[in-house]
Amino acid sequence: MAYRHWCGECGYKTAWLSESQSEEQQIQHYATHHPGIPPGGSVEVNGKDPSGAVGCLPMLGILVLFLILAASCRR
Ligand SMILES: [Zn+2]
Repeated sequence: MAYRHWCGECGYKTAWLSESQSEEQQIQHYATHHPGIPPGGSVEVNGKDPSGAVGCLPMLGILVLFLILAASCRR
């Protein structure tokens, strides 16, 4: 599970981290950018792997296919 905290005062959002790490980043953001305001905003939870590598696979497949085609044409 990955957690991302959204700032309630501006458009800032933390990276996808563990719940405690994300919360800490949010608190640090408030301390530097919104001093005097208690940390608020909302939390976004991602149950999937946030690496996003799956989205690149079809593109990689097309690229490999294209390279094979290009190589076969040269012969
Ligand atoms: Zn902010």
